[in-house]
Amino acid sequence: MPNIIIKTEKLCKTFSSGGIQQHVLKNLDISLIEGDFTVIMGSSGSGKSTLLYAISGMDKPTLGEINFADRNLAKLNNDQLAVFRRNNCGFVFQQIYLLDNMSVLDNVLASGLLVNKNKRELVQKAKKLLMQVGINENAWSKFPTQLSGGEAQRVGIVRALINNPRILFADEPTGALNSAASDSVLDVLTNENQNGQSIVMVTHDMKTALRGNRILYLRDGVICGDLQLSAFSEKEYAERHEKLGTFLAEMG
Ligand code: ADP
Ligand code: MG
Repeated sequence: MPNIIIKTEKLCKTFSSGGIQQHVLKNLDISLIEGDFTVIMGSSGSGKSTLLYAISGMDKPTLGEINFADRNLAKLNNDQLAVFRRNNCGFVFQQIYLLDNMSVLDNVLASGLLVNKNKRELVQKAKKLLMQVGINENAWSKFPTQLSGGEAQRVGIVRALINNPRILFADEPTGALNSAASDSVLDVLTNENQNGQSIVMVTHDMKTALRGNRILYLRDGVICGDLQLSAFSEKEYAERHEKLGTFLAEMG
């Protein structure tokens, strides 16, 4: 039986400004499966980021429940949410947000030290993860501005993984990268998922979405499409591409 890691019930998010209410997420009942590489798609402004932030405890829902790893995030206060996020969630953003005044290694350690005080153990783990994503020893003492975009985002992924998150959340992780850099980042995500890491990623790009094994399509605040794909493999690329293409055409 697949293990459900996140289950939302009637999840709603409404933004109010100038007396006008905008219902961005409407009564969403979503179950996400542990070990999946879930992709959230939808046009710009459809609420993808809002959904990602709600299910990861970055922002509170207006109404509804979010059961994540046996906690109802809707019931936690801000301090409890911060602790929950630190222990359970890793985040990767389009803008990457590495700290420019810290070395590559220190960026990763700063995140790790929030959860694990054993610095020696952390350093070992950080170095192992950096090697795993192709960031070799000669880059560990570099500063973020000395890295290419693809390298910086791979460091961003290591920073997100250093505390063994239950889920890695990624919001348009390749949105600012060229094609080769995107591929290097997506290869890392695919590899992590194949090693058991649960991932939830927002993208509006089909090639990026093809890395997932489940695609949720968001429109007007509801999930209007839910496509199962086999796990990513180069071999079945054409088949997956066609299946996703048909799905996206239906979504319009
Ligand atoms: P997407 O990621 O799919 O492009 P978002 O989730 O960022 O879309 O935004 C969905 C809608 O919610 C947009 O119309 C956006 O303007 C609105 N929105 C998002 N965040 C806020 C906020 N903090 N305050 C007010 N409106 C917001
Ligand atoms: Mg967005």
